[in-house]
Amino acid sequence: MAGEKEIKEIYENGMKILEELTSNAHEIQEQMLEEILIRNAGTEYLSRFFVHGQNHKQNFKTNVPIVSYEDIKPYIDRIANGETSSILFADPITQFIQSTGTSEGKPKLIPMTAESFEKRMIKPLLVDLVMKKCISGLDQGKSFYLFFVKPEMETPSGLMASLYTTSYFKTQIFKNGLAKFCTSPIDTILCLDNKQSMYCQLLTGLLLRDEVVRIGSSFASVLARSIKFLEDYWKELCSNIRTGYLSDWIADPACRNAMSSILTRPEPELADLIQQICEDKSWEGIIKELWPEVKCISSIVTGSMSQYIPLLEFYGGGIPLVSPNCGSSEACFGINLKPLSKPFDVSYTILPNMAYFEFLPVNNDGGGMSHETTTVNKPVDLANVKIGRYYEVVVTTLAGLYRYRVGDVLKVTGFYNKSPQFQFVERQNVVLSIDLDKTTEVDLSKAITRAKLVLEPLGIMLTTYSSYADTSLTPGRYVLFWELKMKGSNDVPKLDAKIMEECCGIVEESFDFTYKSLRKAGVISALELRVVKHGTFDELMDFYVSKGASISQYKPPCCLKSEEAVKLLNSGMVGTFFSPKTMF
Ligand code: AMP
Repeated sequence: MAGEKEIKEIYENGMKILEELTSNAHEIQEQMLEEILIRNAGTEYLSRFFVHGQNHKQNFKTNVPIVSYEDIKPYIDRIANGETSSILFADPITQFIQSTGTSEGKPKLIPMTAESFEKRMIKPLLVDLVMKKCISGLDQGKSFYLFFVKPEMETPSGLMASLYTTSYFKTQIFKNGLAKFCTSPIDTILCLDNKQSMYCQLLTGLLLRDEVVRIGSSFASVLARSIKFLEDYWKELCSNIRTGYLSDWIADPACRNAMSSILTRPEPELADLIQQICEDKSWEGIIKELWPEVKCISSIVTGSMSQYIPLLEFYGGGIPLVSPNCGSSEACFGINLKPLSKPFDVSYTILPNMAYFEFLPVNNDGGGMSHETTTVNKPVDLANVKIGRYYEVVVTTLAGLYRYRVGDVLKVTGFYNKSPQFQFVERQNVVLSIDLDKTTEVDLSKAITRAKLVLEPLGIMLTTYSSYADTSLTPGRYVLFWELKMKGSNDVPKLDAKIMEECCGIVEESFDFTYKSLRKAGVISALELRVVKHGTFDELMDFYVSKGASISQYKPPCCLKSEEAVKLLNSGMVGTFFSPKTMF
């Protein structure tokens, strides 16, 4: 079904295929569900829900429960421990994909078959085709993508568990396809030491600066991290370029070997030029200056990644930000067919051949998505979503997930042909909770977006944030961590206590009725805002990466659960401020 042949076809007829897929979205979905059910109705997992001889599709909607990871974990654990994968899916499960979402502190293991793995490889090709069609000049140079891998893990059954991207970067289809148009040599991408990998990829990007037409990473957080790395290492990078000699600490033999065909001779003029650009106190527009031919910055900047938009716009100096696609380890949801739309207007179009999608209605703003939702609201299929409504995505995949809640909320914005288009709404997790209050990621993000407006006229940028519920004292309080810097430099801004307290007040004002009532009643005490210096959140990323997180899928936690992480952010603190004691 999928495979090299299909991928070749995408290269040749991609846009036509996209039109066909979206024009026949409903039919493709129904056919996909039927095929999945015919093949898998007899599995241990599904057979319980089907009465012999009855129509599988109808029974599917009435009998098969909507589940979360924890519900199917026992099946996944059995397969990971050596039982046959046919308890869940008729085709053999060939590997697991590790998702960043955690289950009891461990990555979730998402089953994958050879067919679904191959099918997914279509997405980056379609994304690339759409971008090249919409942004002129992209096919006349190379892409400076910062890609990273994470070590694979072997389950007791011998099946490997890895990030989807790690497996994908190792395929011949990537190596012989998209990788050819990337600056980074494949061995620098596959290097397991993220620091050496990052250094070599940046060095290559600088050496090939005139050829680079696109710069990017999977998530905006990775690009922000890479720019910080450049800030820390540009002098050493320039010295390597000037002398033609790679730093000794790059010890990975494959990286050294790959770099030997790129760093071939001293280039003092190039080194001088880069040095001159990087020496500028303000790094505003630095991407444009270092890579003058760049036509776009490609990185996911929607949802929780939107906090990086101001930073990337600042460094990009007007280069369009493209948020190319939306998906998860479980399934690819959609791609952006209008790459040049502004980050806050981005809509993704569902690719109906990636999974069978159902949509669980949730309240406007994505609120109200709780476990009870399943009993209150019935999911609708792709043809029946309504424009302007919010839904949680439920997927049935080609690899053993049936009516599985991914946990993401989407707002339907329109249709492209017959395929729904949606905006990504942040995950609806409750992130902060004291007593009866439940503050979600969206509540927090909205409150902070309002509060930071006070800082903008002062030239102060909020580069990233996190939070935690401090219940070590009674009553407990919510603590926010903000990393602030001046627009023109990385200096810590002068913090005016009155203004910072005003920010605290705006955040609290923006929270909901329950929070305010509890605060008024003294059940929750005044919100605290801790300002940390530039680079502290990069240390947090290093900390999580050292604990096994993947650098390429890293999403800064909007709420901290680990004491060590709180300690780390506290160590970068340069000021602490409180809301007025009595507020409401
Ligand atoms: P992972 O399974 O580790 O790859 O993480 C997938 C998660 O990343 C999704 O469930 C989303 O919460 C988030 N994500 C993926 N694509 C986007 C996007 N375009 N915008 C915002 N968040 C996204």
